[in-house]
Amino acid sequence: MPRTSAHTLYLSAPAAIELVRRQGVAACIAGIAENIRADFRRWPAFDKCARVGTHGEHGVIELMPVSDAQRYSFKYVTGHPGNHRVGRPTVMAFGVLADMATGTPELLSELTLTTALRTAATSLVAAQLLARPGSRTMALIGNGAQSEFQALAFQHGLGIAELRLFDVDPRATAKLVANLRGSGLKLAVCASAAEAVRGADVVTTITADKARATIVKPDMVEPGMHLNAVGGDCPGKTELHPDVLRRAKVFVEYAPQTRVEGDIQQLPPDFAVTELWQVLTGQAAGRDSREQVTVFDSVGFALEDFSALRFVRDTALALGLGQRIALIPDMADPRDLFGLLRRPVARQAEPAAALA
Ligand code: NAD
Repeated sequence: MPRTSAHTLYLSAPAAIELVRRQGVAACIAGIAENIRADFRRWPAFDKCARVGTHGEHGVIELMPVSDAQRYSFKYVTGHPGNHRVGRPTVMAFGVLADMATGTPELLSELTLTTALRTAATSLVAAQLLARPGSRTMALIGNGAQSEFQALAFQHGLGIAELRLFDVDPRATAKLVANLRGSGLKLAVCASAAEAVRGADVVTTITADKARATIVKPDMVEPGMHLNAVGGDCPGKTELHPDVLRRAKVFVEYAPQTRVEGDIQQLPPDFAVTELWQVLTGQAAGRDSREQVTVFDSVGFALEDFSALRFVRDTALALGLGQRIALIPDMADPRDLFGLLRRPVARQAEPAAALA
């Protein structure tokens, strides 16, 4: 095998912010959604497993690996609903994209901002397959860190023109309204989840509370609605009443993981679900009728981060963003690790453009 550079492209949080500012949020979501569709269509080519969660008193830290024959990726991600009290987000993440042939880490990237983009992109991919054509109104329940990204994804990718907002914390809704000013979306602030859901074509729940919540109850669901249930993503953390699921057609990312973490954790292990890739490849039907209620029981699957990391790598290289770092030592003789200690230490980081 020829000798290749061991330098890793490093995308810090500030570099990712610059990347998204330059490209635009909607374009980034569209680009990641395109990668998700392409990767999900190649579903059998991937080595998949449910993520590994380590649960503590205040939240969970999860590791999410996936690979095909060429590339491997993993994400480290937190779910700590009380983090705002210490000035940190509920969801914090970073990840790696590596070359399977040598195991070399090619990209080390922030994934906190990127997770919000990829979660919105996944919700959009599902809704484009499942929501009633002509959907214009969306209830958005949970107006925290992820919410603007969901709003913009559904505005630009599905044609949502009006949002009906609810959060138990009015400051979260005020923040969302301020951030979406000028977006062209019509915004209605509601006094309850029931009021937000009334008359909506799409219902997005994206709340953070380590609880068996029932934010959407059966009497709130109207024929033909599409429910994009994103916040119930961990054992003991749900958003939908189980009867809402029983009366709907339920779609998931990767069933072995969703049965443990998703809203369907409330139902028996043989409850019928359809995996999204099956609909994308035409192997299973999506919505069967205009009146059917569809649920995307989203938990977040490693393959979406693989798709997002590909997007981030390609876009960073195209824009000359990020740095090349020596995460792995560069060795003249790869078997002389000890010899590195006897030579002067090289520079630790170079601008990406210099070495691309
Ligand atoms: P966040 O803490 O920034 O915001 C959560 C919001 O939910 C807060 O404003 C809070 O007041 C509100 N909330 C809590 N309980 C509520 C209730 N009963 N009714 C209405 N609002 C309520 O969190 P975030 O980063 O926006 O993430 C939201 C949720 O999405 C988290 O649970 C997170 O784990 C989950 N998530 C899922 C995926 C996925 O792929 N499925 C990806 C990212 C985040």
